[in-house]
Amino acid sequence: MSARIIDGKAAAAALRARAAVEVAKFRVATGRAPGLAVVLVGDDPASAVYVRSKGKATLEAGMQSFEHKLPVDISEGDLVDLVYELNTDPAVDGILVQLPLPDHIDANQVITAIDPDKDVDGFHPVNAGRLAIGLPGFVPCTPLGCLKLLKAELGDLSGKEAVVVGRSNIVGKPMAMLLLAEHCTVTIAHSRTRDLPDIVRRADIVVAAVGRPAMVQGDWLAPGATVIDVGINRVAGEGGNSHLVGDVDFASASKVAGAITPVPGGVGPMTIACLIRNTLVSAARRDGFSLPEDL
Ligand code: NDP
Repeated sequence: MSARIIDGKAAAAALRARAAVEVAKFRVATGRAPGLAVVLVGDDPASAVYVRSKGKATLEAGMQSFEHKLPVDISEGDLVDLVYELNTDPAVDGILVQLPLPDHIDANQVITAIDPDKDVDGFHPVNAGRLAIGLPGFVPCTPLGCLKLLKAELGDLSGKEAVVVGRSNIVGKPMAMLLLAEHCTVTIAHSRTRDLPDIVRRADIVVAAVGRPAMVQGDWLAPGATVIDVGINRVAGEGGNSHLVGDVDFASASKVAGAITPVPGGVGPMTIACLIRNTLVSAARRDGFSLPEDL
């Protein structure tokens, strides 16, 4: 069997294009553009790349981008003060603080300072709670992107066996909540899970969000399973070059799965597209503008 490749790049481009159309209508209706503020502390090169791509995607969608680059030694208090300012800034619809933060700053303090109604990353405890009890709120962008790919691939997810490997607050847990809300039977696996291959083998849907290169093997999968690989791992290649691989061993998994996301070009592009979508949703809620239900 040879798996269908789920093209996250194309899905993300389509979502961003749809969002841009709605942004244009929003601008005509309200006389303003939705705004996303991105806060970067320090000069971690990977974080800087993410922030640049988010800013570029924001502008391409017709929205405003406000970048705040802060020194690595900024105090937690000063960072929280900036978040408070952004909370009350009428031009800002979404606030994103790029993680990880330096060790002297408690990320939870900063995230909980964000107004939950501008928390387009969906990391605030209020939004985690809303997701858990089925109220509208912001859902973290990566699991939201995974869900969109799964629904485009499989349609109705009701009754499917889903195994999420990884239980982080930003990927694994919200992913499990989203699948539960779609009426899947959900198992969450983690580093203490016993007999992980046997658990993965019973799944119709496997989401791997672990951070371990090529951990999930083809012979762990049920034939025909749909596999979403969230992992982004940089590994050394030949001649000193490095390349990105996922948490799933693509070579063996793509022989067994029914459909699989590649790395790169799978979940990654959907994360940014969902950030654009969440920022537009925030602006629309604040200004009473209606958006298509399925955006
Ligand atoms: P975390 O490190 O926060 O969480 C990893 C999870 O994997 C933990 O729950 C951990 O279990 C579990 N785990 C670790 N080792 C094993 C193992 N041997 N068997 C089973 N479970 C294990 O990572 P994130 O959730 O933040 O990210 C996961 C991956 O996704 C990373 O590669 C990251 O780079 C990528 N990522 C990609 C994004 C994208 O846009 N595509 C966005 C965000 C992340 P325990 O809780 O027991 O420690």
